[in-house]
Amino acid sequence: MLELEHARELLCDFTLTSAAEQLDTILEEAVQKEYTTVAFLDRLLRVEAENRKIRNYQMRMKLARLPTIKTLEDFDYAFQPSINPKQIKELGTLAFVERAENILLLGPPGVGKTHLATGFAVKALEAGKTVYYTTLPRLVDELEKATTRGTFPRRCQYYTKYQLLLIDEVGYMQLNRHQAEMFFQVICSRYEKGSTILTSNKYFSDWGELMSDFVIATAILDRLLHHAHVINIKGESYRLKDRLRAGINPVVTNTGQQNPGHSKTGRMAEDTI
Ligand code: ADP
Ligand code: MG
Repeated sequence: MLELEHARELLCDFTLTSAAEQLDTILEEAVQKEYTTVAFLDRLLRVEAENRKIRNYQMRMKLARLPTIKTLEDFDYAFQPSINPKQIKELGTLAFVERAENILLLGPPGVGKTHLATGFAVKALEAGKTVYYTTLPRLVDELEKATTRGTFPRRCQYYTKYQLLLIDEVGYMQLNRHQAEMFFQVICSRYEKGSTILTSNKYFSDWGELMSDFVIATAILDRLLHHAHVINIKGESYRLKDRLRAGINPVVTNTGQQNPGHSKTGRMAEDTI
């Protein structure tokens, strides 16, 4: 009995927490099923390895700060025919993360940009990758706070360390030149090093105005698009589908908010850089 307590203490000391917790159960199982010594050791270490994997996943999931958990499997492709399910499936294999490529999801509100972005994020987390979700307004807010504290380089580094960075809601807030420069720094630091998934309701041709600087906007797009998969979603809002079916038209006019699904020029976002 003393030996057993000693073994448990040692497992705890070596932070083999799950093995320590499950020791009694696995010993009982070993007696019942007449395990060999090696089989017992294998079973104990497997329990530890499996629980570590789960804890590691849970920790990365928490760090990722995803706003909602959506999966690619839950996506209704029939509702959004402008999306090629094959392309989404291929991207879901995460080869783009291995190659440090980007995904740009473009389209009006409610068409599933955040859903798909988080779907890719969940796949990446399941594959053991590190992921971080933010919105562009939150990103610039955090970078501005870091600038005030004199910790901008460290904060910028923080966004660089993740294998997959999600920047959601690009286009809802116009940046001033300083904010655009900070955004540029983040994109630059990830260029060819890590994947970025970005969602936007704006055409690339609107990015000059969005960033308050045409040169910076072009430089950001240049890096983002060099190795990128552009997914242009043209369709109805999933949020408003029931209202649309009931004949209530939710399109708001004269707000200055351009809806890429109803462009004056009719051009696609990828054509307009
Ligand atoms: P966006 O980011 O483009 O504004 P979201 O991804 O937030 O839109 O989608 C709005 C809501 O509708 C979410 O709850 C999302 O899960 C759901 N949704 C959007 N498109 C689809 C779809 N094709 N299949 C299933 N759910 C969808
Ligand atoms: Mg969204």
